[in-house]
Amino acid sequence: MTQDSKIGYKMKDFVLSNPLNPTRFDIPVFVAPYVISDYGSGCVMGCPGHDERDHEFWSLNAPKEEIKVVVSPKVSIEGALFTGKDGFLNDSCGRFSGLSSAEGGKKIVDELLANGYGKHAVEWRIRDWLISRQRFWGAPIPMVHCKSCGIVPVPDADLPVLLPKTNNLSSSGNPLALDKEFVHTKCPSCGGGAHRDTDTMDTFMDSSWYFFRYTDPKNQKEIFSYDAASALMPVDIYIGGVEHAILHLLYARFISKFLASQGLWSGGDLSGEPIRRLITQGMVHGKTYNDADTGRFLKPEERDINDPSNPKSILTGKPAVITYEKMSKSKYNGSDPGECISKHGADATRAHIIFQAPVSDVLSWDESKIVGIERWLAKVIALGDSLCAEIITSKGEILTPINKKHLTTEELDLWNSIQSQITLITNSMEDVYSMNTSISNYMILTNTIITAQKSRNISGNIVLESYERLIKLMAPVTPSTAEECWEKILKSSGKEWTSVFTQSWPRAEKMRESADVKFNVFVNGKMKFVFSGTKELYEDQSKVFDLICATEEGRKFILGRAIKKVIVPPGRAVISFVLG
Ligand SMILES: [Zn+2]
Repeated sequence: MTQDSKIGYKMKDFVLSNPLNPTRFDIPVFVAPYVISDYGSGCVMGCPGHDERDHEFWSLNAPKEEIKVVVSPKVSIEGALFTGKDGFLNDSCGRFSGLSSAEGGKKIVDELLANGYGKHAVEWRIRDWLISRQRFWGAPIPMVHCKSCGIVPVPDADLPVLLPKTNNLSSSGNPLALDKEFVHTKCPSCGGGAHRDTDTMDTFMDSSWYFFRYTDPKNQKEIFSYDAASALMPVDIYIGGVEHAILHLLYARFISKFLASQGLWSGGDLSGEPIRRLITQGMVHGKTYNDADTGRFLKPEERDINDPSNPKSILTGKPAVITYEKMSKSKYNGSDPGECISKHGADATRAHIIFQAPVSDVLSWDESKIVGIERWLAKVIALGDSLCAEIITSKGEILTPINKKHLTTEELDLWNSIQSQITLITNSMEDVYSMNTSISNYMILTNTIITAQKSRNISGNIVLESYERLIKLMAPVTPSTAEECWEKILKSSGKEWTSVFTQSWPRAEKMRESADVKFNVFVNGKMKFVFSGTKELYEDQSKVFDLICATEEGRKFILGRAIKKVIVPPGRAVISFVLG
């Protein structure tokens, strides 16, 4: 009979009493295979009124008998089995009636305790962890089996027990057990003949704490020094697949807390937790072509992708159904990053991967979209080339830093947008890890600088400075492009070459307040246009008319008309004309 089987055999003439009601023998006893093997100790109390499995068992084995309900939910649902933990003991519970589940449970155990039938206990769901494996790859368990002394630990001086160098790995069974030289040893206790344990430790034993060793890798005396581990642990950020979060990181936390409790490290500021932050990167899904009729996965040679926007099945001529699925050989949807790199370069491939999805989301791999990245990189290179040309045509003039105190409005706008992009990109990289948005920020920054370069009101030097910042910001994502662009600028500037990677990361400087005010110009109470003027206009209003009439809008709305009054209210971005 399987463990899932709910068949039970009722024992004849054998009934039990509830210890809280010792004179009444009315509890039937069943023999059944369905009891969970590690739950209780062979004899468990069934509760068909409040447990789904017990309910099914009872319904099958005693279909005609009433199911007794003893706990009522706060809100009852007609006909539904109540299995919750926060109900109330109902009228059939005698002296416990009306108590909440928690209170009732406590009172009942108190009474059992008073009568010597039981006691309060904490229920641990943690089980022993069997660390031994019958595999070659793993750290050997440092125990020796001696016929006279039993199991004897290998003395500290002889640790660690290393795996033998050579072994017959192709044999069946545990290869370690077949290595006689490894197995036969002397008992550390009596010196007589003995044999080593041939099991190895679960590999989780090592992967649970390797990062501690990184803090002190050359230590020959200890697992790691207290000071080194305490100074560097916990790990700032752990990047791995979500499958790591289930077992490996659970064991890592367990071992790390154990090491802290043993005084091997301080335990840091997180009560012995080994990792400050976990990022689980998403999976890359591949473009999958399915036959429209059968759903069968189409092999590459069965696809007609002459028109990439309308792929078809060669066999049927019908459009193929496109989905993005976990890459698999049977779905013919794998992509080789090596091929993509050889076609588009490592920089474009890397930036494309980063750009396509937030790091923890599924990435639907579509190589055709890489053109967006390629266009952006081409723009960055072209911009660099044109700046190099400008360095030469301006005879180096654009290399002279301009005084940042006297920037034009457009220069200030450029300066401020560079600072805000530096802040956004730095934040994406250091804090929120939204790497995909940092790629959009690179693109925005590139376009801003290209527009600025075309403006006559922006000095070449500030454009060049902005470009240099862009290159430094790009360096971690597109190192080859950044290094090449950096080198060209240095060469054109007549400077000695240093790698872009020796440069420090740009830090956002304080935003500069524009010296100009964007005045809303009102004519007879109606807002007509915006005029950009200096703050001096508040003090010296005599210039207002001339300046405004020098603009196209000023000529259109004001010039040639009788002016009764001009008002520039202090501190407000308003100029008001009252015309006759
Ligand atoms: Zn011995």
